[in-house]
Amino acid sequence: MTGAMLLIFGFLFGLIVGSFLNVCIYRIPQNMSVAWPNSFCPKCKHKIKWYDNIPIVSYLLLGGKCRFCKDPISAQYPIVEFITACLTAVFVFKFGLTIWTPLVLTVVSCLIVLSVIDLKFFIIPDRFSIGLILFGLIISFFNPAFSGAPILKLKAALIGGGLGFFGMWAMAAFGSALLRKEALGGGDIKLMGAVGVLCGWVGVFNVLFFSSFVGVLYYAILKLLKRPIENGAIPFGPFLSAGLLINLYLPTISFIRMY
Ligand SMILES: [Zn+2]
Repeated sequence: MTGAMLLIFGFLFGLIVGSFLNVCIYRIPQNMSVAWPNSFCPKCKHKIKWYDNIPIVSYLLLGGKCRFCKDPISAQYPIVEFITACLTAVFVFKFGLTIWTPLVLTVVSCLIVLSVIDLKFFIIPDRFSIGLILFGLIISFFNPAFSGAPILKLKAALIGGGLGFFGMWAMAAFGSALLRKEALGGGDIKLMGAVGVLCGWVGVFNVLFFSSFVGVLYYAILKLLKRPIENGAIPFGPFLSAGLLINLYLPTISFIRMY
C-alpha cells in the first residue's frame, strides 16, 4: 500500500475505533458493559439507529442534537472520533502493515480513553494504567524501542517500568511533603510505570520532557485565552499520554547521551 492509502485506511478505521472509544468513555466510569446494550441517547434513552451513529458525519447532519429529544450531543463525541482517526492514520502510516501496528494502536486507544476520563473525573482507572503495564510487558518482544534477544527486550521493559513507577512514586512523595498535599495521583504513578514498560528507561525521561512541554504549552494557551483552571486541579494523565504518544511515534529518540 502507498503512503496515501495507509493514511486514508488508517483515518477511516480510526473513525470507527473512535466511535467505540466514546462508548467506553461514557460507560466504563459507570461500570456499564461496553458491548451491551446498543448505543442510546443519554437523555431520552432512545436507541440510536446506525445512520445516526456514523462517526462525525451524523453529528454534523443532526446539527449536534438528538433526533428525538433535540438534546445537544456533547462535542466530545466528534472530537474523540477525529483525534482517534488522526492518530490511527499517523501510526498506521509510520509502522505500516506490521504486527506492531495493531499492538501500538491498542495502546493509543487506551491512552485516548484514559485521558478523557481523567479530564472529566480526575481519575485514571486501574484497568488502563495497570492494564497497560501488563500489556506493555507482553508486547515488549515486538516493541521497536527495544533491541536484542527477546529476553533482553523484556528486561528493558522491566527496568523502564521500575524506573517509571518508583521514580514517579518518589517524586510524588517528595512533592506531597513539599506542598503538604497530594501532588500526584496514584493513577499518574501507575501510568508512568506503563510509560517505562513501553518506552524503556530512556523513554521515561523523554516522556517526562515531552509531557511537561505539552503541559506548559497547554496552560500558556489557557492563560492567553483567559480561561480559568477548573477546581484548581490539574489532571496530569492527558499530558503524560501526549508525551507517551510522541515517544511511541519516535521510539528510538533520546535526549540523554551516554558517554
Ligand atoms: Zn435524545
